[in-house]
Amino acid sequence: MSNDKKNTAPAAPALPSNFLRAIIESDLASGAHAREGMPSVITRFPPEPNGYLHVGHAKSICLNFGLARDYNGRCHLRFDDTNPEKEEQEYVDTIKDSVQWLGFSWDWQGPSGVEHHLHHASDYFDQLYIMAEYLIEQGYAYVDSQSADDMAANRGNFSTPGKNSPFRDRPRAESLQMFRDMKAGKYANGEHILRAKISEDAMSSPNMNMRDPAIYRIRHEHHVRTGDAWCIYPMYDYTHPISDALENITHSVCTLEFQDHRPFYDWLLETLSAGGFFKMPVPKQYEFSRLNLTYVITSKRKLRQLVDEKVVTGWDDPRMPTIVGLRRRGYTPEAIQLFCERIGVTKSDGWIDMSTLEGCLREDLDPKAPRATAVLRPLKLIVENYPEGQSEECTSPVHPHHPEMGLRTFPFTRELWIEEEDFMEAPSKGYFRYYPPVGDQPGSRVRLRHGFVTECTGYDKDENGKVTAVRVKYFEDSKSGTPGSDTYKVKGNIHWVSAATALEAEVRLYDRLFTDPQPDAGGKDFLAALNPNALETVTAYLEPGMRGTAADQRFQFERHGYFVADRVDSQPGKPVFNRIVTLKDSWSAK
Ligand code: ATP
Ligand code: MG
Repeated sequence: MSNDKKNTAPAAPALPSNFLRAIIESDLASGAHAREGMPSVITRFPPEPNGYLHVGHAKSICLNFGLARDYNGRCHLRFDDTNPEKEEQEYVDTIKDSVQWLGFSWDWQGPSGVEHHLHHASDYFDQLYIMAEYLIEQGYAYVDSQSADDMAANRGNFSTPGKNSPFRDRPRAESLQMFRDMKAGKYANGEHILRAKISEDAMSSPNMNMRDPAIYRIRHEHHVRTGDAWCIYPMYDYTHPISDALENITHSVCTLEFQDHRPFYDWLLETLSAGGFFKMPVPKQYEFSRLNLTYVITSKRKLRQLVDEKVVTGWDDPRMPTIVGLRRRGYTPEAIQLFCERIGVTKSDGWIDMSTLEGCLREDLDPKAPRATAVLRPLKLIVENYPEGQSEECTSPVHPHHPEMGLRTFPFTRELWIEEEDFMEAPSKGYFRYYPPVGDQPGSRVRLRHGFVTECTGYDKDENGKVTAVRVKYFEDSKSGTPGSDTYKVKGNIHWVSAATALEAEVRLYDRLFTDPQPDAGGKDFLAALNPNALETVTAYLEPGMRGTAADQRFQFERHGYFVADRVDSQPGKPVFNRIVTLKDSWSAK
């Protein structure tokens, strides 16, 4: 950095910096990954198709696809499909859909046309196999025939070095023949396994992942894509570096728990490069800290438990932190991208507060969500001096700061719906909404927003003492926007809808699924921390214009928060609304 500030050029609008961008920028400057016909930055997102993606995966997607976008590179979507027993087409489909919904594409405009970078580890089964034979021939791998128990016992632990397998010095030719027999289906699951031999003393390596890691195992299992062609399947630690290298990945970004796997990653690619399988430079692995979000669990296994035990209605339940759940809840891709930018990437583990994600959503929706009126807990209001059968239009901007979004209209009639909480029989101090006259004290004066000023004249009760209607009189010359209407000074201003034309709709008031900020930390029983109020369903009355709402349309219901028409249960003319988030954070004080 120059000390002479005067000579410093004005900074370009900088991308938020982080250690990965710094590495990439230094690699771009040195030409570390410059290759003919290929971008200098190629990343990948490598999910295993064994479940639905969640908000943690969104961080990895935004990071990998975002780096590729920002440095004119490309990002591959690669299914890490080497565990045939757990993987299904349903998961492949939803993962593709989620990545696209988040706003990313694996297509890349290459020198000779668009390339589709949707890959599968299973595309490389033949090559992976050939490389394994090469490792055996070179003395870098052997077939181990120990029982699973012996193998585990001989692996040692962090404080005890492992013991060599009695099969470790099996002649290469014998290992090769046995490996071919494994492939030919001559053995049962678990009878033998292929292990790497990184060095003579690898079993005493302080890094457990270097202690003769398994690279192939026998699994007589049908695979979604390769069918019954294989009964041996490569292990993740073996498949991953090779897939990266075959796809010319430059920066292989993963979460911190893979740090201890990096020495094997590097060893494998160097060893195979020496054998002529890859050209240098080979990909490099970099680790970042995973997303931990308060009030949320991101373990696939535990999310599956919520679905299986019917705690939620499915993977796309709007309370789920899955991408399909967030989408159905009403989250926008832009809000999730903004969130991922804002939390950044670091190498230190920590917790991000749920309010950060919700804040990004409000920030995204506030300028673009049309406003609408919804009465969620209805109480009848009767305007006693307004003639029955009469009706007049009131208007209001669709968005207070965007006149170009136009006006909306709704009728004023004798009977209206207001919120239950907008009337108090005996008002508390500072309460400016409706309360009745007492003695010679008149009832309160309240403006019905975008309509008239009214004065409370009384109320009705049923035999249980429940208030069933509020009675008011209106002032004819007080209509909002008409000359002189502002001579009425009132402190209360409330929303309402006409009972004659209101749309009755189911509204689902969602809240956080757990009451504990770290529901599963330290092995806690997360089911004990379920929020009993995570869903409340109400029958609400909405302004009549809401009848035409299409699924996925989002609104701000004034005073209540942001809502979306549910994409699954809404029907033409009969939308069902989900509360995405309230207007203000009500959790921070708890
Ligand atoms: P599994 O236990 O099934 O392996 P996983 O969450 O690691 O679960 P993958 O399909 O392997 O699932 O994940 C794909 C990618 O998403 C990986 O590169 C992984 O590091 C990343 N990822 C997963 N969870 C998070 C998280 N909470 N924050 C950031 N990245 C994550
Ligand atoms: Mg994983």
